[in-house]
Amino acid sequence: MSDRPNPKEPGFSTLAVHAGATPDSTTGARATPIYQTVGYVFDDADQAASLYNLQTFGYVYSRLGNPTVSVLEERIAALEGGRGATATASGHAAQLVAFFALMQPGDEFVASKRLYGGSITQFALTFKKFDWRVHFVDPDRPENFREALTPRCKAIFVESLANPGGAVADLEPIAEIAKKAGVPLIVDNTLATPYLCRPFDWGADIVVHSMTKYLGGHGNSLGGAIVESGRFDWFASDKFPALSKPEPAYHGLTFAETFGDFALTMQTKAVGLRDLGPALSPFNAFLILMGTETLPLRMQKHAENARAVAEFLAGHPQVGWVSYAGLETSPYHQLARKYLPKGPGALFTFGLKGGFEAGVRVVESVEMISHLANIGDTRSLILHPASTTHRQLSEEERIAAGVGPEVVRISVGIEDADDVIADLDQALAAAARP
Ligand SMILES: *Cc1c(COP(=O)(O)O)cnc(C)c1O
Repeated sequence: MSDRPNPKEPGFSTLAVHAGATPDSTTGARATPIYQTVGYVFDDADQAASLYNLQTFGYVYSRLGNPTVSVLEERIAALEGGRGATATASGHAAQLVAFFALMQPGDEFVASKRLYGGSITQFALTFKKFDWRVHFVDPDRPENFREALTPRCKAIFVESLANPGGAVADLEPIAEIAKKAGVPLIVDNTLATPYLCRPFDWGADIVVHSMTKYLGGHGNSLGGAIVESGRFDWFASDKFPALSKPEPAYHGLTFAETFGDFALTMQTKAVGLRDLGPALSPFNAFLILMGTETLPLRMQKHAENARAVAEFLAGHPQVGWVSYAGLETSPYHQLARKYLPKGPGALFTFGLKGGFEAGVRVVESVEMISHLANIGDTRSLILHPASTTHRQLSEEERIAAGVGPEVVRISVGIEDADDVIADLDQALAAAARP
């Protein structure tokens, strides 16, 4: 696989190290400094006024923008092949701020039903308080998205690689459906990262991330991002007044007119971050930036280890099934080859023949692997959803969410694959003991 679709552009690994960053102009510092400041001194009252009017680019207050955070935003936009990005305090904040730009009270959107559990709750319950309504559909048949669209729908939302079951979305036809409907396709690319999949290459309009996971990659900082392709025409209909109509809080400025192909990036900062408030801290931005530098190396190792662990589990007599899309038996194998040719990530589920009891025994018996609720860390992490993240649900609801009593989720880290396998092997042996 070439990382270099255009020979004049730097390759992916070069962008991962350099995009957005230059040596500090006053000190020469080579690593991006942590600008741990809230305010920025104005030159004079005129300059302050033009900053406030969005007539000059610059920094006013760190809720709206910060130099360390800006470097990270440029880097993520470059890695996704997008036009601009807005960083947020978490992945959930990115989703809130993105929808806040697109939706009015009473509006609706269509989402895949195979999503991170936290996103299902955010969309179905919390978004209701904004009077936004979601229609969940089975993403395995792209036509389901078209059939669920209503005139008030303002977006289609999918995860490129779904958490936790590793289902792969058929992005190309779904993007076509969104395009015909005149609404943006939003892809949560958290599990794939732009190293494994670039949704803009398949027609997506907006990418959102939980940078908490693989982009940061070390399990030490929450962060989120909204990236725009720059190709969506906000003026094609009157569906998106926050972008295509004058904004009263900025003296009637119209984002899509003034900022063109980075209108969403400017709107999500100047209105979304300003008024909802979930800005990323410069310290977290620094840590996540450091993570992005090794993204290609880590993702290669994550993907290679995941394959070895999935193959081990698939051949284990106590394991009933493994959901990893890299296995030829997976219903997502063909889609994975098309959209994630370097490997379908490193997060998947498997089912234990011993059911609920066996699930609890395995997560309690691992030694090196950590039993906790996070993913996308250098460390291998394991979770038994039925006894933790999904324990409030009824058995029927858990099965509908794809996390029955026997399901274990693993986020394969970048340790030596043999050591991950040895730990699982001894935990499975412990679970089999009477
Ligand atoms: C974790 C996660 C989120 C939420 O991100 P936070 O940073 O925890 O707010 C959203 N989508 C996916 C796919 C995730 O894995």
